[in-house]
Amino acid sequence: MKTAAKTLTPKLVNKLWLALIVLVVMIGMSYVGITNYFASKHNQETIQRLNADVANHVIAEKFQNASPFLQDGSVNTSLFGDLMHDMMAVNQGIEVYLLNETGEILYSVVLDHSENTPAKNVSLPPIHSFIENKGEKYILGDDPRLPGEEKIFSAAPYSVDGRNGFVYIVLAGKKFQEVSETLMGQYFAKLGLGAIVLTSIFAALIGLLAIWFLTKNLRVITNTVRCFNEGDLSARIANPDASDISIFANSFNEMADTITGNIDKMKSIDLLRRDLIANVSHDLRTPLAILKGYIETLQIKKDTLSENEKQEYLQITHDNVDKLSKLINQLFEYSKLEAEQVTPVKEPFSITELSHDLIVKFKVIAAQKQIELQIDNPKENHIVFADVSLVERALQNLIENAIKYTEPKGKVRLSLQKKGKHVEINITDTGTGIPLNEQAFIFDRYKQVDKSAKKQGSGLGLAIVKKILELHDTTITVLSKPKEGSSFIFKLPAYQV
Ligand code: ADP
Repeated sequence: MKTAAKTLTPKLVNKLWLALIVLVVMIGMSYVGITNYFASKHNQETIQRLNADVANHVIAEKFQNASPFLQDGSVNTSLFGDLMHDMMAVNQGIEVYLLNETGEILYSVVLDHSENTPAKNVSLPPIHSFIENKGEKYILGDDPRLPGEEKIFSAAPYSVDGRNGFVYIVLAGKKFQEVSETLMGQYFAKLGLGAIVLTSIFAALIGLLAIWFLTKNLRVITNTVRCFNEGDLSARIANPDASDISIFANSFNEMADTITGNIDKMKSIDLLRRDLIANVSHDLRTPLAILKGYIETLQIKKDTLSENEKQEYLQITHDNVDKLSKLINQLFEYSKLEAEQVTPVKEPFSITELSHDLIVKFKVIAAQKQIELQIDNPKENHIVFADVSLVERALQNLIENAIKYTEPKGKVRLSLQKKGKHVEINITDTGTGIPLNEQAFIFDRYKQVDKSAKKQGSGLGLAIVKKILELHDTTITVLSKPKEGSSFIFKLPAYQV
């Protein structure tokens, strides 16, 4: 976790930088490409517009006094020789073609013949379109010297001696193209370099700022995670909803809360265990000390003690062994419940029948104390859905307590009542009652550090009841008044047939 937190930011920053560099190069290249395209288009359009009338001029100038054809129908080459002369002097970038009306090249005036064989025809639709638009529109036509390529041109129709055709002038001929490409190359090399240098400087500045802003929240989170990792369990991301990565920030805070919550829970469980061990060992010590005392007395004074005294001492040791074994059983039972090793096996059963059985079981003990033990409305049969043996254990503890804490001639009543989807079980006695300040602690009395506050008993009976009811997703309530009696009430889900 430590290394992950430390390397998270640099890795991300590297990726962001890489993305930025790729972006800058792509923008630079696109910029140069787009500028190149539009600059050359603009350049060509300007040339075409400026020279739109060149073909007309050629016809007006050259064909006025002399025909482009000789009497035998062949081309008047000397006339075109003249034209070549003019071109050499004025514009070496143009190429002039004499076409017949089908677009066939009858003669060409080009300065450089060294290149590949020229085409024999020029396609006519661009020429018609050019003439129709009077050269105002940007139109590309065939380059006869480079078949397949298109160039700006000027064209004009002629009609001489009954022969029709076109004077077709490629304005950006091979020569023009060579010069233009060299210049463009140099120009764009400078432009590209300038653009890349400038955009890189700006991109680096913007990138630094952007990465700083982008990783700001991440740095806050990383630092908080590091603090938490180094032991500051209170470290949380302040105002997580305002973070750009609020899901991450909130998740971290929730995770940190869960971890600290679990640590607190573990600490309190540990504290409870220590209290339990301290209190239980105190409870174990008393009967053990009594046992030891009486056994020693029996050993030392075995000859002087009367038979009655011996019986009495033996009865006391017997009672204390009982107490010890009960305590150890309770402890074992409680620790199993506490460690969540007990899984309730829930099934429908008659709580009425179970109550009857328990009443019968405790009748003798109650009778010994002259306590009246009875079940209210015994005829109504209530079925609940719960773990029968766990519920039996809980009821047994509650009835046992009720008898234990009730004076002779008192009453203990168990009542069952249907309440909505539940059956309410109420064990009421007319016993000693529980002082108000103790009522909150009786279900986890082993928590009490003040041992003087303890009465007889292990204090685990009610803790076991509480745990059993927790396993049934229910709780127990106590209503008690000192010297009047107590009621322990809980609900179990009724079984719906
Ligand atoms: P123990 O009875 O072994 O001490 P319990 O957990 O069963 O342990 O009960 C905890 C305490 O709650 C008892 O010590 C007693 O003070 C009080 N208590 C429980 N049931 C009753 C009752 N029916 N009447 C009066 N006090 C009771």
